[in-house]
Amino acid sequence: MSKDYIQILPESIANQIAAGEVIQRPASAVKELVENAVDAHARNVGIYLKEAGKNQIQVIDDGIGMSPADAKIAFARHATSKIREAKDLFEICTLGFRGEALASIAAIAEVSLKTRREEDELGTRVEIAASTLIGQEPVQCPVGTNFTVKNLFFNTPARRKFLRTNQTELKHVLTEFERIALSRPDIGFKLHHNTTEIYNLPPASLPQRITHLFGKGISNQIISINADTQIVKVSGFVCKPEYAKKVAGEQFIFVNNRYVRHALLHKAILNAFSQLIHQEAIPSYFIFLDTDPENIDVNIHPTKTEVKFVNEQAVFQILHAAVKEALGKFNVIPSLDFDMDRSIEIPAYGSQRVVIPPSIDYDPKYNPFDSQTGGHQPSSFRPEPPAFLKDNLSNWDTLYKDFESDQQKLPLDTEKESTKNNLPGNTIFQFKLKYIMTPTASGLMVIDQKRAHERILYEQFVRTLANLHTESQQMLYPKVIDLSPGDFALLSEIAESLKTLGFDVQPFGGYSVALNAYPAILSTEDPEALFMDLLARIRESEETGNHFSEKIARALAKAGAIPYGKALNAEEMNFMIDHLFACETPGFTPGGKTIVIIVQTEEIEKKF
Ligand code: ADP
Ligand code: MG
Repeated sequence: MSKDYIQILPESIANQIAAGEVIQRPASAVKELVENAVDAHARNVGIYLKEAGKNQIQVIDDGIGMSPADAKIAFARHATSKIREAKDLFEICTLGFRGEALASIAAIAEVSLKTRREEDELGTRVEIAASTLIGQEPVQCPVGTNFTVKNLFFNTPARRKFLRTNQTELKHVLTEFERIALSRPDIGFKLHHNTTEIYNLPPASLPQRITHLFGKGISNQIISINADTQIVKVSGFVCKPEYAKKVAGEQFIFVNNRYVRHALLHKAILNAFSQLIHQEAIPSYFIFLDTDPENIDVNIHPTKTEVKFVNEQAVFQILHAAVKEALGKFNVIPSLDFDMDRSIEIPAYGSQRVVIPPSIDYDPKYNPFDSQTGGHQPSSFRPEPPAFLKDNLSNWDTLYKDFESDQQKLPLDTEKESTKNNLPGNTIFQFKLKYIMTPTASGLMVIDQKRAHERILYEQFVRTLANLHTESQQMLYPKVIDLSPGDFALLSEIAESLKTLGFDVQPFGGYSVALNAYPAILSTEDPEALFMDLLARIRESEETGNHFSEKIARALAKAGAIPYGKALNAEEMNFMIDHLFACETPGFTPGGKTIVIIVQTEEIEKKF
């Protein structure tokens, strides 16, 4: 006698499994609902979230709506109005086409849909939860569609537990929102979170939309790019080299109006900027590639953002050339017409200009060992540390003590006393403008300069936050900074911690703020850039489970650390080593990256 084991899964379970692929978090549901609204020819789309979308996501559009029958069937798996035959797959111009989103959302949430077409007197309301139809009835409602999705993952507690803090989930929603809002500047979008309006974007031109999303500061920083070839049409904007940031976040490529990630195309753009920006900087860009669908692999997973071109090499070259040409032109053609009430600014430099990172401010001639220099000073005079390492908590007296005795503090240096006497005195040098190298008892110590500084600053900031006191550097003239609405909302959350760290930032009307002071420990020539870099890092940082203020300390240490490529003199390198080994954890950055290694003498000897 045989027994059969295989069963077909009930529809609701199959949907739940499929939902896992399409809906990972509130942001994915928002993306699918908003894309549906766009596909339905909406002119205006409103998004209303409660608790970052975990408790409620409402998306309201004024698109074509659905008939009562369609409203019900829309929730079935593979229900789509967008393709009918396999050959349609090769001509897709809508955002969705697999008919899985609504089925997936309805499988793991409580959904209420109200919709009406123009030709219908009455609309219809459909209620559905966990793939089960609860009811349908006629209702009065405006033309268009109104989805309310409550309690995401209510019936899959394991997945619900997987959701991160509201701040992180909201960040994911904002990321999706930016992509769709950029791809369709002609559509008006609103985004509300709890009781706050985060965005209210009127239908606009692309440059206006970029400004509405990323703040007024970007408006005179963008250069249009254009190329029309048989393979692909390129349009959009790149930002001027001087606007390039240390943190990714404003890099957007759209293929046939769909946001994609494409490492090769990113590289094409980076290459075009290569002589113009610091090696660690990332240019901002908003690039649209349009091509016949037959030139791309259409079998794109609906939630994936990868795309494959048939002729990648050619697209690479076209994009690279288009960006290069735009950067070159910007040399001669003044700013674009921007439909905004600001005067046209004529770029002041040529394309061969190299953007120099903010430099460190110190007196190169000053020698702390030279007693002559201090001759006229009162006996209590202490030399000032190099400005970029100003550390108001550490004891300046200890800085110039015998370097050799300092070496004993190294946790990594386990070598016996006896070899110590062979050490050359203060031999210390910089390698590749990136590493500080110095012999130790057991071998050759190599320190990553940027990471070391990051660790030093981080520990300083953590102490500052604990003591609730820091030194501020007042600015001669406050700097008014136009923020994006998203950054403005973020800033209000972190204002207290920033104040403790030494920032003085005041609201300045609209989404603008005045930066009056910054932490004195960060000697910077461009406090605005530092501040923007900090905001970007906090925005981009993943949840770590750490206390929030610690996250800010981490971000600020990263933003303020001296870059690679910065030449350091002996004094600065000594200062760095002293401070690094005064840290609690000198070996690793707060993010766990190695700061110091020692190449053991035996390893060197083995090579010979
Ligand atoms: P897809 O977008 O891949 O077709 P979905 O599950 O997202 O699949 O949606 C199923 C169908 O429901 C769509 O094809 C469309 O006909 C209809 N639909 C969904 N949202 C809307 C909307 N906001 N307005 C009008 N029709 C919609
Ligand atoms: Mg869809």
